[in-house]
Amino acid sequence: MREGTLKPVREKPTREELLSHYIHFVLDQNLKINTDEEVVDVEPIEPEAFLVRTNRDEYTAVRVLFAIGAMARPRRLNIPGEELPKVHHRFVEPYPYVRKDALVVGGGNSAAEAALFLSEEGARTTMAIWREDWENRDPKAGAMKHWVRTPLEREIEAGRLRVILFQRVEEITEHEVRITTEGGETLTIPNDVVFVLIGSDADLTLLKKLGVKTAPGKLTEVPVYDLETFETDVRGIYVVGHFTNARHIKAAIQVPRRIVPLIAQGLRTTVA
Ligand SMILES: Cc1cc2nc3c(=O)[nH]c(=O)nc-3n(C[C@H](O)[C@H](O)[C@H](O)COP(=O)(O)OP(=O)(O)OC[C@H]3O[C@@H](n4cnc5c(N)ncnc54)[C@H](O)[C@@H]3O)c2cc1C
Repeated sequence: MREGTLKPVREKPTREELLSHYIHFVLDQNLKINTDEEVVDVEPIEPEAFLVRTNRDEYTAVRVLFAIGAMARPRRLNIPGEELPKVHHRFVEPYPYVRKDALVVGGGNSAAEAALFLSEEGARTTMAIWREDWENRDPKAGAMKHWVRTPLEREIEAGRLRVILFQRVEEITEHEVRITTEGGETLTIPNDVVFVLIGSDADLTLLKKLGVKTAPGKLTEVPVYDLETFETDVRGIYVVGHFTNARHIKAAIQVPRRIVPLIAQGLRTTVA
């Protein structure tokens, strides 16, 4: 992919700008990518290959590179009312919530971005965040990015966004939310929509079924892999991206650039 061809409107590209950039690269280069096709099983077959089953087809592969991300299992609060249809565990866009009472629960960039976009687009927004997350300024420890925090603080100063330093959300009902603040006070606030954005975990089921070992990572459970080749302890199975310890976009781009030619080279050597 060509460096420097993405021209964001703000300091950093939005999700839409980044996705559009990737999509146009795929279209321009006419890459073969099967969209809307889910891998549902990967099974070893003799002598040294895998049968990859999807919801549409089956493929045989000698090497399989998993790049499945870590968004499959959004974490839950496990409180009464969380199953109501107005409660979401992903945030897509702010536009349906103009002039609605929105609550965002969470302390990372996903929550901060959602609160910012909701507030900027006219939702009466409250963000419930733990003090340690609000005061965290260390980007390496998951602090809010400055290009999110600065406009977020502008929304707070302008009185459009309310921040509650809280202990826990007690209950969500059809028109309200009950929250215990860090000082132990119970607040009941009007509410039309809740976004619970408290992190998510990868679905490692397919990898575990293949026999790939996992270990505690920086933030969550990660597959065990060779730090140079990103091959797991199951020969022929590789991992890359957000569910490894090389989590960020930069690594998710750099690592495949390095390892895919190595995998191809290894295949040529095997065949020769
Ligand atoms: C709100 C937010 C803000 C962020 N901001 C930044 C930032 O500023 N800088 C940064 O470096 N990182 C940021 N990140 C992290 C960044 O999004 C990830 O590092 C990056 O997307 C990782 O890419 P990936 O390819 O590993 O995973 P993903 O982008 O998650 O892609 C994984 C893909 O695999 C697909 N998939 C999963 N399972 C299957 C299956 N069984 N069959 C077929 N397909 C499957 C998924 O549908 C998905 O399309 C942010 C994340 C969020 C949520």
